Amino acid sequence: MTQTTYLWTPPAPASLPVRGIDARFPVKRIFCVGRNYHAHAVEMGRPVDKATAKPFYFTKSPSTLVESGATVPYPAGTSNYHFEMELVVAIGAAGFRVSEADALGLIYGYAAGLDMTRRDLQLVARDQGRPWDLGKDFEKSAVCAEIVPVGELGVLTSGAISLQVNGETRQTSDLSQLIWNIPELLADLSQYYHLAPGDLIYTGTPEGVGAVKTGDTITGHVAGVGDVALSIGAAE
Ligand code: MN
Repeated sequence: MTQTTYLWTPPAPASLPVRGIDARFPVKRIFCVGRNYHAHAVEMGRPVDKATAKPFYFTKSPSTLVESGATVPYPAGTSNYHFEMELVVAIGAAGFRVSEADALGLIYGYAAGLDMTRRDLQLVARDQGRPWDLGKDFEKSAVCAEIVPVGELGVLTSGAISLQVNGETRQTSDLSQLIWNIPELLADLSQYYHLAPGDLIYTGTPEGVGAVKTGDTITGHVAGVGDVALSIGAAE
């Protein structure tokens, strides 16, 4: 077999630690759900009527992934850098057009994550009908803690989700408040993509999103899953 020769050394795959296991979870894609808690949809000025709406998604490049506990520079091009605390679903089996009843079989595990956002750039893009990439898909914007194998957790339907900045609580809600729950999301997203091992799905943030600045420390918690942390360094 001929060995492929590259012009330079390809980057290592993005990956995350797994609780209790030495092997790491290699990340294939990062999907994010927009507006999946009513109170957050309202605070963004875009309430959701589930009777007529469908979930929508954006993506982040796997190269944007940062492990929990990191210090990241205050990002370029923004003056309104926001946190969004989210439950992350990690996919461990292939699935295309899966039913809600079959969704559990796709889940490898869960993690606590942060969908860091350049809110000013996102809102300009949104209001001008442009893609959200500058606001969402930027370097070190997908923060994720270790993955917890699904085990006896099963399909999570409830559990407190919260976020603190410098120890002060800024977001608090419950997974039961998700507009589209985990089986609904996997069934819907798999209508459009062949879900595959290594995919991560950020399931959306509850209300209370806000800005952070250099020197701030973010901690987040999902009951039964774990914690995520991020420190904000100086701008480059
Ligand atoms: Mn989000």
